[in-house]
Formats: sequence, structure tokens, C-alpha cells
Amino acid sequence: MTDQSAILFKSVSRHFGEVKAVDQVDLDIRDGEFFSMLGPSGSGKTTCLRMIAGFDRPTAGQIFLYGQDVSQLPPYERSVNTVFQDYALFPHMTVSENIAYGLMIRKIPPAERKKQTDEMLELVQLSGFGDRKPSQLSGGQRQRVALGRALINHPKVLLLDEPLGALDLKLRQQMQVELKAIQQRVGITFIFVTHDQEEALTMSDRIAVFNLGKIEQVGSPAEIYEHPGSAFVAGFVGVSNLVKGEMAQRITGSGRMFSIRPEKIHLAVPDASQSADEYAADGKVRDVIYLGLYTRYLVELGDGGDLVVVEQNLKTTSMDVTRLRGQSVRLLWKKEHVRTLGGPDA
Ligand code: ATP
Repeated sequence: MTDQSAILFKSVSRHFGEVKAVDQVDLDIRDGEFFSMLGPSGSGKTTCLRMIAGFDRPTAGQIFLYGQDVSQLPPYERSVNTVFQDYALFPHMTVSENIAYGLMIRKIPPAERKKQTDEMLELVQLSGFGDRKPSQLSGGQRQRVALGRALINHPKVLLLDEPLGALDLKLRQQMQVELKAIQQRVGITFIFVTHDQEEALTMSDRIAVFNLGKIEQVGSPAEIYEHPGSAFVAGFVGVSNLVKGEMAQRITGSGRMFSIRPEKIHLAVPDASQSADEYAADGKVRDVIYLGLYTRYLVELGDGGDLVVVEQNLKTTSMDVTRLRGQSVRLLWKKEHVRTLGGPDA
């Protein structure tokens, strides 16, 4: 990865009449980065991706690709390729022919074409599958053909629009690891669109969190998770307790809203002592959900607010944890794990 910008957005907007799909977005994606655009449905991620590809144009602002203003260039004049969720493979062609398609268009001689195609088959772990048709492949294998077909053109930037969306959870997790490994091997800038926060956290060097056509925060997975910059980010990326008003006042002595992750809170006996670097809140366990590896507790604090607490079942069994239902507890967490968000009513 270098400090050079692969993609630079300067105050880019894309409005469709009244709808501000993308609104004055500034963005700097570095060369060689695995960059994810994360956000709920309708937040503007796909529109950003389409504008980078050239399938759509900004209504205001500029987009630069490695320093060149491409805002008004057609897709075929940009060194960018896209992998779509539905793969868009040619069904009548074999795997090798699909992958070699870009080389054929560029009139690369057959011997060289075969060499590059075989190398690509190996990269995407499909050696031995070259003569099959897409219909004879699994979903994960088809996705790898689509990836190989896009990478063979050596684009400067590869755009991936929810490419793992059609796969089941296990295959999806396996492909996340593979995709990241392939990106590291080829060193090309990947821009990945997803609404799945776990996927973004697993694969990305950096993540942009979108909300209502704007970027709420850009940062590494750890920054986004540990230091959410807004209530929206705290709620969208992982599970977070948002505490405000009187309850915040009582716990921290300040009325400012804060977030605290469920796994940072410890469940203790009601009279447990609190050290100077901790906050404490007393409550009653309203619900216990045993999930094998860990247990999720819903703890009701005196005045109607709830906190979610997650603890690993290192020494506890399902019998132990369910016994806690209805019990009084004290919740303790380190002050350093609290993230203060905006003003009192933010
Ligand atoms: P998803 O995850 O569902 O794909 P997204 O974050 O990618 O969502 P976009 O597809 O970029 O969101 O859409 C952003 C907003 O712009 C939405 O409100 C959408 O309805 C609107 N929009 C997108 N394309 C058009 C269009 N061609 N005409 C009118 N409105 C559009």
C-alpha cells in the first residue's frame, strides 16, 4: 500500500430529483487498500460505486482515479472493473473462456492467453475446473470465476458490489478470507460494498460508514468498532448500548450520551466493590440467552432502561447462566471503554 490516492472524491453529490442519494461526499481511498463501503440499504454505497465505475455521473463534485479527473469519462476509459453479486458469467462459455474473455477482446495471442488464464485459474483456486460450464459449479466457485475474469485485465481498481451476498454463511466466511488473501497477493485496490458489518470488519484495511447519502466515519475496523464517532456508527457496527439522559447522569455524573459495548460489561454480585477506574450500575437480569460460546443477558436498570451484557461461557454451563434470570446484579465496566457521543441530547 502507498500513500497515493487511488480514488479521490471532492464534494461529490448525486441527486435524483429530491432524493440526495449521495450528498457532498469527500473520500480518499489509498493505492492497494482493501476499502469497504458499509451502510444500511439506501445509504448511497452503490451509487458511489457506480460513479467510480462510470455507470453513473455526479450531479456535482469531482472523482479522481490515480490523479486523473474521470468524472465525465465513460466506463471503458477507466481502469476499473466490477464484480457483481449475480456474477454475470457467460453461461455458454467454459470457465477458462469466461476468464480469458478480456484477453480475447484485447487480441492477446492464444499461447499468451492460455498462460495468463492458467495462472489466474490457480490464483482463484480453480485449476482443473477450466473446461466446466458455469452451471456445473457451486456458488462460491462461480464467484471465483467472476473474480478471475475481472482481475485478468489488471484493473487499477476492482469494485465489488455485495459479491458474497448470494452465498450461505459458511461459504461466505470462507470466501471473505480467500478474497482478502487474493487482494494481498495481487496488490490491487479493492472497493467492497456491503451492508454486513461483520464482513466489513473481517476484510477491510479501512471502512467508510454511510448513512443517508453521507459518510458518518472513515477508519480502520478497530477504530470504527472501538471509537465510534456517532450514535449511528455505534449502533450499526456491532451491538452497542446507548445510554443517555438521567441514566447517563446517574452512572457517569454527566448527562452526556455514551455508548458501551456489551462484551466490556461484567456481571457481578449486587454488593461487588467498584474500583476508581470503573463505572457501576445496579439492575435485575430480565432475560438470559444461552448461545453456546457465550451468553447474552438483558439487564433492567431501576428506571426502565436496559443494558445488554455478553459474557463468554468459559467456566459456566447453560444451567449456571439460566439461574441468573430474575436475580439482582451489579454491572461494572472500565471508564476507558465508554465512548461519549455528542451533547446531552445528541
Ligand atoms: P443497497 O444496499 O440497498 O444497495 P445503497 O446504500 O447501495 O443500498 P443506493 O443504491 O446508492 O443505496 O441508493 C441510495 C438512494 O438513492 C436510495 O434512496 C435510492 O432509492 C436512490 N436511488 C438510487 N438510484 C436511483 C435512481 N436511478 N433514481 C432515483 N432514485 C435512486
